[in-house]
Amino acid sequence: MQSQSRLSESAYSSYHTPNSDRLAAILQEMEYINTIGKSFVAAIDRFQVHRALLGALQKLYSFAACSILLKGDPFELSIIPCYPLSQVFIAAMIERIASAASVIDFPAVSVEELANASYLDAPDDLSITQKLGSPVQDMIGGAVIGSFLNVPLTVENRIVGMLSLFDEREGTFDTDLLKLTTMIADYAAVALENVRLRERETALWRQAEIGRQRLELIISSMAEGLLITNEQGGITLLNVSAQHLLAQAQLDLKQNSPLRTLALANNVSWLHKLADIIDEALTGVTVMNQELIAGEAGEPVPLTLSISAAPLHDASQVQMGPIGVVAVLNDVTANKQIEKLKDEFVSVVSHELRSPLTAIKGYTQHLMRRIDRRLRKTQQEQQSSAISGVDLPENYDLRSLSIIQSQADHLERLVNDLLDLSQVQWGKLHLQYSSFYLADVLVESVRSVQASTEQHTIYLDIAVQDTKIVADKMRMSQVIGNILDNAIKYSPQGGQVTVKLEEREGDYFVSITDQGIGISQEYLDHIFERFYRVRNTASRQYSGIGLGLYVTRAIVEEHGGHIWVTNNKGLGCTFSFTVPAAAHSD
Ligand code: ADP
Repeated sequence: MQSQSRLSESAYSSYHTPNSDRLAAILQEMEYINTIGKSFVAAIDRFQVHRALLGALQKLYSFAACSILLKGDPFELSIIPCYPLSQVFIAAMIERIASAASVIDFPAVSVEELANASYLDAPDDLSITQKLGSPVQDMIGGAVIGSFLNVPLTVENRIVGMLSLFDEREGTFDTDLLKLTTMIADYAAVALENVRLRERETALWRQAEIGRQRLELIISSMAEGLLITNEQGGITLLNVSAQHLLAQAQLDLKQNSPLRTLALANNVSWLHKLADIIDEALTGVTVMNQELIAGEAGEPVPLTLSISAAPLHDASQVQMGPIGVVAVLNDVTANKQIEKLKDEFVSVVSHELRSPLTAIKGYTQHLMRRIDRRLRKTQQEQQSSAISGVDLPENYDLRSLSIIQSQADHLERLVNDLLDLSQVQWGKLHLQYSSFYLADVLVESVRSVQASTEQHTIYLDIAVQDTKIVADKMRMSQVIGNILDNAIKYSPQGGQVTVKLEEREGDYFVSITDQGIGISQEYLDHIFERFYRVRNTASRQYSGIGLGLYVTRAIVEEHGGHIWVTNNKGLGCTFSFTVPAAAHSD
C-alpha cells in the first residue's frame, strides 16, 4: 500500500492538469524546495541536518527510518528512525546498508564494523530509549523491511556517501519521487559537508588556540628575556623577564618602539649596542652571547646581559630577507659576581704567595752564595794539600739548592700569571711606557731562554735596523719569553727555534717558529682563551695552567697589535705578533 503526502500527489499530477492548476503546483513545489533549502542552510550541526532531512522526506513519504552513510576516515553511519524500531529491524537495515555500500564505492567493511560505528539519532519527540546492541524489543515496530531506497549523496559530482530509506510496508518509495528525493539528498550532502568543514575548522582553530596559549605560557614563564622585533627593528614582543631586566636597567621600553630611536632618545650607550646587535641580525647573521653592561659602570659588578639574536624568517619564504629578529637576553651578573670573587681570591692568594716566595728565593740565593764560597775555599785547600776528586757535601747542597731555586722560579712565574690574569680580567693591565729597541728585548730574551736549554738551538733573524718603539718593556719581554718558553716546552725532542723580526706596513712583525708537537687545527682558535690547554698536552707531561697565551694576547692587544698562530705542516707551529711602530706616544 503506497502512502504519499498531498504535495507529491499534486506536484506530480500537475503535468496533466490545466495551466492554472499546474502553476499552483509548481509554486507549491518551489515553496517546498525553498522551505527545505532554508532548513538545510540553517542547520549548524549534523543533528539539525538530520532533522531537516527527516522533515523534508516525511513530506514525500510516510516511512520507518532513513540512514546516512558518509565516506571518510573514520566513516560514519547515522540511523534516523521516524518512530521506535525493533532491534531486528535496525539490524536488517544495517545489513542492507552494508550490501548496498558497494554501489557508492564504499570500502569493504563487515556488518559488525558498520553496526559498531553506527549512531542512532532519534528525534527528541520520539521517546526512544533503545540503543543499538540492547536486547531486542519485539514489542516495538515490525521486523521485516518491506521497501528500501538508496540515493547517493553527492557534492560537486563527488559521491560523499549514501542516503537509504526504509519502511516496513512494501512499495512505499515511488520512483516518481526519485528526482525530488535525490535533490533532498544533495541538499543534505552539501549541508553535511559544510558541517564537517565547520567541525574541522573549529577543531583546527581550537588546536591552534591551544598551541598559541601554550606558547604564550612558555614565553611568559621563560627565565630568559625574550625580545622580538619587526624588520624595522621595532619591538613587537617583550616577555615578562625581558621587561623585568629592562626595568632593572632603568628602561621602560614600549612595544612597537624602534630600538634605534629609543637608543637615541634615551642616550643609553648599551641600548645602542643592543640596537647594533639587532641590526646585525636583521642582515641575516646570528649573533651569539654578546655581553652588554647594562648597569651603572661605577657599580662593583654592574648588571651584565648576554645577548643572542637570530634573524626571523617568513615561514612561507615569500620574503627573501628576515622579517624580524628574535633576541634572547640573559642576566649573567651573578656569573660575573662569582668570577669577580674568584679573581679577587686568586689575586689575594697570589699576593700572599709572593712574600714567602721572595723570602725562599732570597735565602736560597744567600745559601747558594755561602756554600759556593765555602766550596771554593775547600777546593783551594784540597789543591794545596794535593787531595782531589773527592765529591764534597757542599756540591750536593748546591745542587739541591739550585733545584729549589728553579722550582721557586717556576712557582713565581705561575703566581705572576695568576696576578696578571686578574689584571687582564678587570682591564687593569697598567702599562709602563718607555722608549726602547724591540730588537734588544728579543736578543735578551733569546739569550736567557737559550741558556736554559741545550737540546734546542734558537736562531735570531733581525731584518730591520731601527726597531725603536714606545711600549712597556717588561711586558714586551714577557710576551716574547712566554712564546719562547712554550716553543721549548712543546718541543720535547729539541730542534730549532727561529725568531724573526721584520717591518711590515708600519708595524714590527715578530714570528717564533718551533719544530715541536704543533697544534691541531681544531684547537687553533682556542689556545688564547684563559685556562685553555690542548687536550693532548694537558694530559701529558707538559706542565702549565693555560694562562700564558691569554695574558700574552692581552698585552699585545693593549699595545695595539695582533697575535695569531699557524700550524706548520706536520712539524711545530709559528706564533706571530705585531707591534705598531708608534705603539704609544705621550
Ligand atoms: P700553558 O703552556 O701553561 O698550558 P699557554 O697559555 O702558554 O698555557 O698555552 C696554552 C696551550 O697552547 C698549551 O697548553 C698548549 O696546549 C698550547 N701551546 C702553546 N704553545 C705551543 C707550542 N709552541 N706548541 C704546541 N702547543 C702549544
